Amino acid sequence: MWMSKFARFAPPALQRSTSAMACQALRARRTPGPLPSGRAAVQLRRQHTLGSASLPLARLSVRHVRALDDKRLMEVEWEDGGQSLYPFTWLRDNCQCPQCTLQSAKARKLLMSDLDIYTGVNVVEVTNDNKVSVVWTDQHNSVFDPDWLKKRCFSPAARQAMQEELFLNGRYYWDSTLRIPTADFQEVLSDDKAALAWLVALRRVGIVYLRGAPAERGQVARLAERIGYLRLTFYGHTWQVQDKYMANNVAYTSGRLSHHTDYPALHFAPGVQFLHCINQAVEGGESEVVDGFHMAEQLQREDPEAFRVLTTLQVDFTDTGTDYCDFMLQSKKCIIDLDPKGRLARINYNNATRDSVLDVALHEVQPFYRALKAYVDVMNRPENVVTYKMEPGDLVTFDNWRLLHGRRSYVSGPERLRHLEGAYLDWDEVMSRLRILRHSVQEDM
Ligand SMILES: [Zn+2]
Repeated sequence: MWMSKFARFAPPALQRSTSAMACQALRARRTPGPLPSGRAAVQLRRQHTLGSASLPLARLSVRHVRALDDKRLMEVEWEDGGQSLYPFTWLRDNCQCPQCTLQSAKARKLLMSDLDIYTGVNVVEVTNDNKVSVVWTDQHNSVFDPDWLKKRCFSPAARQAMQEELFLNGRYYWDSTLRIPTADFQEVLSDDKAALAWLVALRRVGIVYLRGAPAERGQVARLAERIGYLRLTFYGHTWQVQDKYMANNVAYTSGRLSHHTDYPALHFAPGVQFLHCINQAVEGGESEVVDGFHMAEQLQREDPEAFRVLTTLQVDFTDTGTDYCDFMLQSKKCIIDLDPKGRLARINYNNATRDSVLDVALHEVQPFYRALKAYVDVMNRPENVVTYKMEPGDLVTFDNWRLLHGRRSYVSGPERLRHLEGAYLDWDEVMSRLRILRHSVQEDM
């Protein structure tokens, strides 16, 4: 039920699968292709309005409950015929009573040293108000809400659905045919539904364009405050992308910037980037983006050996200079980070800050260059690159762990200085706001 509620905020391409069975939700993750509409974020809001007419959720009902003592599992049979199994140890660990849980913080009070991980049960039963009651062998009594239990069912489909609700890891892959989801800057600041649609599209698609911001400094900071706070780095709370004398970063020149992620010289690179156009060059300065996850998937298919090298070999990155204060950064990163389940987690690549120090064996040097070149070649294919030119008042928000962005060279002149203001945020803060907005928007329905 809660899956279908949240699915209203998924881009249209994902919607069919997420509103279907939970186990099908992840199939959408691997579905590349163009967005059916270029104004996904705006459309999503409309869908939400239409969806608000739906019926309130029926509460889950427990038909029967029993203890399987030999397996130390509790079996719950639901009114719809489904069954769920819960280990005794997990149930005892997650007792929701005031003695075991600090209600005001929703945090566990029960200490691990006080948890009997071999506990048995005396009685399990369904209470008059349809809750599940467990009396443990030490007489402690735990009472569980059926909705709470159902969400925490250990079946693979339920676990996958819960993870999808928490993290929105289903991604929508794209190529040059993408029409970037677009929303209104003021609306995102003032309207919770618009803000939610923006953040969901930012997560799913990886890039959202906001129009209508004032063409003056301070707007990226306002947008960051909508979420929580921005991420301070050595380039300051926010930073000014301009052609600068004695530039301390290649971005602060008028030259071409090849596709890169920002700040791989930090072990924990910023997750999200905002760029606000205050002034654009008359000639050149177009922006380019590619979907690094989609490109990595293509590389894995076309050149598995290159993919293996880029996901296993650590490269050194460096960044030295003075800005907010002086800095001398070193980091070690794989160009393509996978999570422990082998899923794409983060791209770390900036050719400007890739160190001349290369801590790999002699015989690995040439294979590394071959692999990196293969990945860059995939990213440079015209069919994979989205190009756009920002105008004053435009603000682009994108996933810096996934997208690679670049810039075409521009003609720098004193009569009209190209000027962008940028800021970073992290995904933890963005996802936190997304969950809160989802909660408040649903309550309004
Ligand atoms: Zn308790």
